[in-house]
Amino acid sequence: MGIATVNPATGEVVKTFEALSDAEIDSKVAIAQAAFLQYRQTSFEQRSQWLQAAAAILEAEKDRLGALITLEMGKTLKSAIAEVEKCAVVCRFYAEQGAQFLADEAIASDASHSFIRYQPLGIILAVMPWNFPFWQVFRFAAPALMAGNVGLLKHASNVPQCALAIADVIRQAGFPDGVFQALLMDSSKVAALMADDRIKAATLTGSEPAGASLAIAAGKNIKKVVLELGGSDPFIVLPSADLQAAAATAVTSRMLNCGQTCISAKRFIVANSIADEFEKLLIAEYEQLKVGDPMLPETDLGPLSTSNILEDIDRQVQAIVQQGARILMGGTRLDRPGNYYQPTLITDIADDNSLGREEFFGPVGLLFRVADINQAIALANNTPFGLGSSAWTNDPAEQEQLIDDIEAGCVFINGMVKSDPRLPFGGTKRSGFGRELGVHGIHEFVNIKTIWVK
Ligand code: NDP
Repeated sequence: MGIATVNPATGEVVKTFEALSDAEIDSKVAIAQAAFLQYRQTSFEQRSQWLQAAAAILEAEKDRLGALITLEMGKTLKSAIAEVEKCAVVCRFYAEQGAQFLADEAIASDASHSFIRYQPLGIILAVMPWNFPFWQVFRFAAPALMAGNVGLLKHASNVPQCALAIADVIRQAGFPDGVFQALLMDSSKVAALMADDRIKAATLTGSEPAGASLAIAAGKNIKKVVLELGGSDPFIVLPSADLQAAAATAVTSRMLNCGQTCISAKRFIVANSIADEFEKLLIAEYEQLKVGDPMLPETDLGPLSTSNILEDIDRQVQAIVQQGARILMGGTRLDRPGNYYQPTLITDIADDNSLGREEFFGPVGLLFRVADINQAIALANNTPFGLGSSAWTNDPAEQEQLIDDIEAGCVFINGMVKSDPRLPFGGTKRSGFGRELGVHGIHEFVNIKTIWVK
């Protein structure tokens, strides 16, 4: 479909966009480079004021921006507005903390004076996905701009208006022209862009193939890259847990954003002794879910974002069932226009059912039964991914074992995995590398310069 706004709730093509030519891309890179040479001289105080202004605009415009998100990728309006509000939070966080995270750090050595100075790198290319079209961009942009870098955004082709709106917010906030630009471009041009000397590093959130392709281009050109890719997060429930709270949280996490979330609870791994009860509680939670028009306040799940995602999820469900799994709820698309899929729960997934280790990027939960904590951890780790994980137990020894032995970028005990500007966020294994958010996130795209004075 090229670069276009297609309403996922109706299938209507709302607006199409011309992709930038090579010459237009080159001219935007030149603008970014010129902007960087000035922008790197600005003070933390000035950047902090601009970030505060961006936060204020996001809050003031959250209804309009939220409606744009819903129009382009189909999440519920209430969750789209909450996403814009969260962007304001991350702008404020780095506005308030950034200077301290980037202050010179004295370190004793054989010098009379030695220290670290954090300096910006230059143009950072951000390749971003459609699932949280504002949040994914702002969690990159807020620390990158605070550090004195400039950004070029290659957003997903189905959210062009979000891309342009974000660049607008940043410009209106007072950041100088050229400090943050959206490039409406085809993803096939990203590799060539990575060869441009003016681009210093890149970050990508999205699928494994996209991440691998960017990493190859970055590797060839010896450039830093941060990758935040897929996940097949385990959600472990052991006998001492509060089962009602666990079931409610499992369904909230799985169904957030119509299941199109990298850190959703995707595999519910439950101890045998409580599995029947947990299954009943899960089904009761599923039965309360309302699928429908994402603009309505009572809707919990809107459509999937694109017809491709809908087809992918349907194909995966059929394949897992063909390999012997059993559908407990849902399992088909809805008979109505738009990319609607039923909330789906699947169980009896055999050890050799290869789909059980895959990422389901839609409203599909997989329920596994295990004998004990050791089996739970083994199953949790039996996936190529290692992004988030949630584990439910009130036994302190079990909590310690889970924290130590789960292979993931984070372990949440008795709670749902979520990103928080204060805490680092990122994965292990095929979920990617590098960290966003927190103090670690702002240190990804800086030159950590060692200073040694005799
Ligand atoms: P993609 O990974 O294809 O898209 C994410 C971003 O990467 C988009 O901006 C896309 O641009 C760009 N891109 C795609 N291919 C390349 C490439 N070869 N080089 C550089 N950039 C590229 O995700 P999809 O939309 O196709 O979704 C497919 C699957 O990816 C999902 O089912 C899910 O498993 C995973 N995913 C994970 C996300 C996460 O949050 N971790 C977010 C989105 C998807 P363009 O749109 O122009 O192709």
